[in-house]
Amino acid sequence: MGLNNVNTFDLTGKVAIVTGSNTGLGAAMAVALAAAGCDIVGVSRADAGDTPARVAAVGRRFADVRADLASIAPVDDIVRAAVEAFGRVDVLVNNAGIIRREDALDFTEENWDAVMDVNLKSLFFLSQATARQFVRQDSGGKIINVASMLSFQGGIRVASYTAAKSGVLGLTRLLANEWAAQRINVNAIAPGYMATANTTALREDAQRNDEIVARIPAGRWGSPDDLAGPVVFLASSASDYVHGHTLAVDGGWLAR
Ligand code: NAP
Repeated sequence: MGLNNVNTFDLTGKVAIVTGSNTGLGAAMAVALAAAGCDIVGVSRADAGDTPARVAAVGRRFADVRADLASIAPVDDIVRAAVEAFGRVDVLVNNAGIIRREDALDFTEENWDAVMDVNLKSLFFLSQATARQFVRQDSGGKIINVASMLSFQGGIRVASYTAAKSGVLGLTRLLANEWAAQRINVNAIAPGYMATANTTALREDAQRNDEIVARIPAGRWGSPDDLAGPVVFLASSASDYVHGHTLAVDGGWLAR
């Protein structure tokens, strides 16, 4: 595909699975992929939020799949539901994630396992189930993991989150190594400080909020829509030779 081909970001006719699509970054990425042409298989735990309506508003179809990714039990059913709804899968966005905060001296096994299970174990096994579908289709495909600043930095009081997100960066490389030859691109997006429910507590703490904003070269929190361009790029043929990369979308935080 030539660099001057303006259709290189066009995703018309593609099918994207997005986990945690009901809210926050997952909702924004689902809507961005739909706006670029994808039908969306939205995976959520309780309800799909306003994402189905937002996807419909840009003229694409939405399949509502309910699954709890605290265990890997649903991963094959998610891929099966996508194929039943739309006939194929082209893109997986592993966005669902949780965080638990506790001093390392007190950190409980429950807080360790809960985060590792959703943020790392289910991400791996859903990637595996989706890559098996890409192989069955003989189509290649795109897997986009959601990493974090804590894929690069240590953080504090978030032991299992740092372990999981650092693991996401490593797994992104490993899966790229194993699957690149099958035209499967595995990459990650590492959001910086984004204004979502996940960060409400930080933003409501005036002192922490001021410290964070002062350290962000862009001078503001990221908005979920700041991930639109990066996710479409990594889902599209524009990134066909990009493998195993974790792209920071952080207003310059890591450059500081
Ligand atoms: P959020 O608003 O808390 O959304 C998290 C999403 O994950 C929700 O859709 C949630 O579903 C889903 N989820 C959690 N546990 C699940 C489970 N067991 N099964 C299925 N879905 C589950 O947070 P967000 O900020 O949009 O975060 C999205 C991703 O970005 C996460 O991986 C997070 O670690 C990462 N991230 C966020 C930031 C940030 O600044 N916000 C920065 C770096 C990375 P429910 O609504 O049902 O809970």
